[in-house]
Amino acid sequence: MTDARTIELADRLAAVRARVTAACETVGRAADDVTLIVVTKTWPVDDVRRLAELGVVDVGENRDQEAAAKAAATEGLALRWHFVGQLQTNKAASVARYAHLVHSVDRPALVAALDRGAAKAERRLGCLVEVDLTEGAEGRGGVAPDAALDLADLIAATDNLELRGVMGVAPLDRIDQRGASRAAFARLSDISASLTARHPDASLISAGMSDDLEEAVAAGATHLRVGSAVLGSRPVLG
Ligand SMILES: *Cc1c(COP(=O)(O)O)cnc(C)c1O
Repeated sequence: MTDARTIELADRLAAVRARVTAACETVGRAADDVTLIVVTKTWPVDDVRRLAELGVVDVGENRDQEAAAKAAATEGLALRWHFVGQLQTNKAASVARYAHLVHSVDRPALVAALDRGAAKAERRLGCLVEVDLTEGAEGRGGVAPDAALDLADLIAATDNLELRGVMGVAPLDRIDQRGASRAAFARLSDISASLTARHPDASLISAGMSDDLEEAVAAGATHLRVGSAVLGSRPVLG
């Protein structure tokens, strides 16, 4: 495909990659330390195919139904699917079949369900502990910071899950988003340091979206989850 949409995606992707490179340079990190995940939620599978043609390997989704359909439709493209949304326990077995990394593990019942799902799918499944950085204010999931290490231990003790690190979403702040993100990601980075003291291999940090990826890179993020800066503004859903 080399249609107008492909050209638009290529331009936006190049701009985001340039932002990531610049952010890495600012803090003296190597650009290939940071993995860009393009979050394709609400966009058609043709956009996923266009992104794959443009060299994108890591793609993210936040709903199982949509993710499972897109993963099935793009089998053979060697994409890595990242599940980044709140996950119901009854969807865990489905996600365990196609996900490369589940970013949103936030409670013991979900650990158990993902472990069973991975066993059934006969694969090992990478997991991040999602930490709530909003003091419970936004009700969007995530384990409380002081319970994150216990949840991590639980994941590490399963047979089929691999504890890989932590994930966080900064609280919304209309007045100073970048300041709020900086504070939230500093906290996530502290939690990551405590986690790796116990589990040295669990060093991934998933943080940063379209509006705060620079703050995430500065705080040590290894994975950025970027949607609208690459794909455009999502239609407002009722
Ligand atoms: C949608 C989403 C993103 C991407 O957000 P943008 O602001 O569009 O870059 C990142 N993380 C999660 C958990 C999301 O649901």
